[in-house]
Amino acid sequence: MLPYKTLQEAEAFLGRNLTFPETVWLNYSANKSDYFLYCHNILFLFLIFSVVPLPLTFMELSRSSGLDKFKIQPKVRLSSADIFRCYKDVMSMFFFVVGPLQLVSYPSIKMIGIRTSLPLPSGWEILMQLAVYFMVEDFTNYWIHRFLHCKWGYEKIHRVHHEYTAPIGFAAPYAHWAEILILGIPSFLGPAMAPGHIITFWLWIALRQIEAIDTHSGYDFPWSPTKYIPFYGGADHHDYHHYVGGQSQSNFASVFTYCDYIYGTDKGYRYQKKLLAKLKEDLKSNGQQNGVSYQNLTQDLKSD
Ligand SMILES: [Zn+2]
Ligand SMILES: [Zn+2]
Repeated sequence: MLPYKTLQEAEAFLGRNLTFPETVWLNYSANKSDYFLYCHNILFLFLIFSVVPLPLTFMELSRSSGLDKFKIQPKVRLSSADIFRCYKDVMSMFFFVVGPLQLVSYPSIKMIGIRTSLPLPSGWEILMQLAVYFMVEDFTNYWIHRFLHCKWGYEKIHRVHHEYTAPIGFAAPYAHWAEILILGIPSFLGPAMAPGHIITFWLWIALRQIEAIDTHSGYDFPWSPTKYIPFYGGADHHDYHHYVGGQSQSNFASVFTYCDYIYGTDKGYRYQKKLLAKLKEDLKSNGQQNGVSYQNLTQDLKSD
């Protein structure tokens, strides 16, 4: 709860006029407890898990649009019943694990110093903190994920997330309850190292989940704005990890590609990409004379 209730009190406290976003924030949060503000994450996560994968689901089910050529594993088709089952499982995990975790984790957020007060952080500060959070998450998640691929970790926990060998947006948070708890650590570490405003924290939690849905979308769009983010892995990078499955010792990173490059866990992926690029080139130069599409060939190659 803010230590000032009115605009005048807040301006006296800051020693200047409030900006428009600060006035909006004051009006919204002045009478709300910090705990209640923190719990907004539950609503945000529910909306993100439910709404963000929807356009991808329509694409997946229609399969007739021009977007189908961007499907990474075009031969795999999921029915609406399959997709709904995935969403139902994610939602039960949401109500029994994700939501309660948010409810009880408030003291840790308070301890690391996430603030709700004025002044609001600048756009630059938010951007820098988000960049740190994504990098810390990526590095920590890489090693935890790699550990989850050891025999014990995979069989007891991580196997659940790999039930989808051709992932879909709704399957991004589909995991064993223990994995949800364990992977809360990389998400928490960044804000613990560089604590900021609760708005930055909301943005972080939301963007991280939207990014996970993107990497599990099953579609690789060449026009995606994420292509401009340096070293961003995207759907193609993580799809390969699911495609190879349980034995996968490739593409562990959750956000960027450099950890897999540095630690040598992307060799299979890079070899396959090189092969597919050559195949595409050959197909182009042959003028598709035998009538076989690139899509089918790439899928056949992946199936070998
Ligand atoms: Zn995995
Ligand atoms: Zn995954």
